[in-house]
Amino acid sequence: MGRKLLIDKAGVPGIRGYEVYRREGGYASVEKAMKNMTPDQVTDEVKKSGLRGRGGAGFPTGMKWSFLAKPEGVPRYLVCNADESEPGTFKDRYLMEFIPHLLIEGLIVSSYALGSHSTYIYIRGEYAWIPDILEQAISEAKAAGWLGKDILGTGFDLEIYVQRGAGAYICGEETALLESLEGKRGNPRIKPPFPAIKGLWDSPTVVNNVETLAAVVPIINISGEEYAKIGVGKSTGTKLLSACGNINKPGVYEIDMTISVEEFIYSDEYCGGIANGKRLKACIPGGSSVPILPANLLLKTAKGETRMMNYESLSDGGFAKGSMMGSGGFIVLDEDQCVVRHTMTLARFYRHESCGQCSPCREGTGWMEKILKNIENGKGKKSDIDLLWDIQRKIEGNTICPLGDAAAWPVAAAIRHFRDEFEWHVDNPEECLRRNYGLANYADPLVAA
Ligand code: SF4
Repeated sequence: MGRKLLIDKAGVPGIRGYEVYRREGGYASVEKAMKNMTPDQVTDEVKKSGLRGRGGAGFPTGMKWSFLAKPEGVPRYLVCNADESEPGTFKDRYLMEFIPHLLIEGLIVSSYALGSHSTYIYIRGEYAWIPDILEQAISEAKAAGWLGKDILGTGFDLEIYVQRGAGAYICGEETALLESLEGKRGNPRIKPPFPAIKGLWDSPTVVNNVETLAAVVPIINISGEEYAKIGVGKSTGTKLLSACGNINKPGVYEIDMTISVEEFIYSDEYCGGIANGKRLKACIPGGSSVPILPANLLLKTAKGETRMMNYESLSDGGFAKGSMMGSGGFIVLDEDQCVVRHTMTLARFYRHESCGQCSPCREGTGWMEKILKNIENGKGKKSDIDLLWDIQRKIEGNTICPLGDAAAWPVAAAIRHFRDEFEWHVDNPEECLRRNYGLANYADPLVAA
């Protein structure tokens, strides 16, 4: 069993409350950081840890912190991105719901390192019940002296505020999130300038994911050097994964990134194998945006090596033969699942969530959805598959924010690895409907719309 640093205590009765959390060693990292370390030393520990952002991009956190501009007389902000909206991803929800003080503790230490006196948690609107849990934890922490004025007599002041989003996926993109936090429509900003220079209310800002900020707690407790010894290569520490789809044990798991994909899927400690005795067909290993991998490329890399559950191994082979760790949403498809239908569902999602600012994304996502609907609905042509490929190529890399890429990659990977399935749909429209819905003329609301 691998080492666990984040949710090992999530099952302790009463851990959601301050008393039990504190009794279990909570807030020790705040004491250590504020009493014995300067803010720069805290940043150095995070750098030494090798921690990479857990929201999707995997950028080194310590480096991101060191980019923060520090002009005299200008406030700096830390914003926690809790807008966890990537289909298949729900690990931050688990952390906030069951061990909220871990996030608050991580926010206090990180705010101290960055010099943020007003720190925000921006949480997706659909997590309607979680803001109350976070606000309760904040008020408990404040009553115990971990927040407010002159924390631990250090002269450092900090308030944490919870801001609810209104249900737009795009607000998980950091600049759209900042726009929304400022009370505006959540349209992504053109970068540069990056938030580290000009972020919230034009002030230097760091935006980090929930899991990233929670991981600062064990880093300070055990030291960056010790944290870096866990895992492998540039995949240091532990990683939360939310596993779902056709598996026996969907849920949130913490791994130390030294296990294989096969072990993660089939071990009873994790997913417990494919449900109903079916065979593994494919997997989207890092949330809906990352390329889908067929079973053969999921378990072994193109070089024939065992595929491991870490950043480097999952991306081995590039997009032609690999995928990404992404946001940690591990979606498993069994042999009965239709890749065309899955791709259409994702295309519909991205079309709906496009903010509409750039033409390739606004128009391209709509066209991809329409073409996929046609293919799924038995009205597709062979040339539609090439047209789909062409559209996704024209979206990728040509948009203001990564949503365009996120919409293009699933379509590209589905065609790359499952072209025969697309062709089968074109050649066998009636059979396809019968297979998917049990009836040849079934009027499915998704495809009939
Ligand atoms: Fe908006 Fe899409 Fe352009 Fe992002 S890529 S700014 S979501 S239109």
